[in-house]
Amino acid sequence: MDPVQQSSSTNPEQYRLTSLPATYFDPAKNDPDGWTECILRPGMKEALLAQPGFPIRVPRPSSPAHRIGPIDGAGLGMFATRAIEAGDLIFAERPLLLGPGAWTYVLERDPGTDRMDMLFREWEEYMKVAVDRMDPAKQAAYRALSNAHLDDGSLPLVGILRTNGFSVTGVLRKVVPDLPKGEIHELTAIGEVLSRVNHSCRPNAHVRMDTHSLSLQLVALRPIASGEQVTVAYTDILAPYTTRKRKLAPYGFTCSCLSCADPVRSDRRRRTLALARRVLHREDFTVWLHPASGLSDEHMSGLLEEVREKIEAEGLWDTPMYAEYLMRMRDMYAALGKREELEKAALRVLEYASAHEGYIEPLVRKSAAIVHGHPGNCEFWDVRAKFRENPPPVDESLSEEELERMYKSKQDKEESDEKKEPDEKQQDQVKTDEGQEEGIQKQEQDNAQQQNLEQEAKTAMETTPTV
Ligand SMILES: [Zn+2]
Repeated sequence: MDPVQQSSSTNPEQYRLTSLPATYFDPAKNDPDGWTECILRPGMKEALLAQPGFPIRVPRPSSPAHRIGPIDGAGLGMFATRAIEAGDLIFAERPLLLGPGAWTYVLERDPGTDRMDMLFREWEEYMKVAVDRMDPAKQAAYRALSNAHLDDGSLPLVGILRTNGFSVTGVLRKVVPDLPKGEIHELTAIGEVLSRVNHSCRPNAHVRMDTHSLSLQLVALRPIASGEQVTVAYTDILAPYTTRKRKLAPYGFTCSCLSCADPVRSDRRRRTLALARRVLHREDFTVWLHPASGLSDEHMSGLLEEVREKIEAEGLWDTPMYAEYLMRMRDMYAALGKREELEKAALRVLEYASAHEGYIEPLVRKSAAIVHGHPGNCEFWDVRAKFRENPPPVDESLSEEELERMYKSKQDKEESDEKKEPDEKQQDQVKTDEGQEEGIQKQEQDNAQQQNLEQEAKTAMETTPTV
């Protein structure tokens, strides 16, 4: 049977096999960056081809920055061969394959049944056609990738796809807006080299998909030292240790990152970090801006410094929370009228956005306007000084409870500080870190808002590997 022609009763829509960019009988005419074998829904090929200038060249880092080599224990990994800055492109490649990351809704729900076996066989047939269309070297490269799905009914080519694929659905949805929603429509891409990048729950890099060049791109999230291993996240790194461990099990390894090495401490830190996020929210910041709050310039920088320490202690650079922290830093420097620091902070927001193609665009645009334009493009520019000279009336949009809470916590702190010895102050700080009852209810509301924001960010930027 030819799966390309075979209409399937189990698949609601027919898939199409194609090469992008197109290939020719005369190999000299083929795209110098190679091509991707694709298993696509109807309309997707046309939408990708309709992008202006498609395909543009696959970008290169400013100078070679990586090598693939053995890691301690077993297997291969990617290492930096020079110092890399946050936001830098480390490596890019045209994927070997782009296709569905799941075959039907029943895949995860009906294991070990005849129907499941049949679906796996059908999926494998499509994969076989796609892999056979690759040139011999790429076929060998595909077949040499690791397969962690040896005992769950997946046949070999599907097993490799499920082990190594990066989910690229969110980005493709921008090109193909009418792509149906749901897990069955998830799309995954496999990179020959990028499949060798290992997981860490504290990843220093992120893989994004660029549809104009049809390439997977590895971008640094923080400065990476020469010789350091480059890592990405295979699972939700904000989940607690036991959940991460369970989600990573199908990949066939146990994570030995610093957070997994000390899970009790790590989970506690992550919980307190969730509580610290309230600092990043608009209400707290707006209250600080207003002279009526009586809060010092250092108040906000102190709060943000605590958040930064926690994020770095857990290595959570690949989370929307880190982006929120960077944006709040930017807004704080703007409010303080510190131009140089503001521009640096705005640049860091752009670096994060560069690694996460499509990260909430309006929030990023402001940073670009500051870096490439004028600090006054930030609405908070110098408002602390302006407000001190000419205090605005209390903004009615500020809730009275918020103002009261801020006054109260400031007064309480001043009163108790007067009574305490320095050692006791220190202890008090630790308790607050561990999340006392104050503000829990507010935190729940914040969490709901945060989840919306996160969901938006997640949908826009997801390029995490799929199992
Ligand atoms: Zn880990």
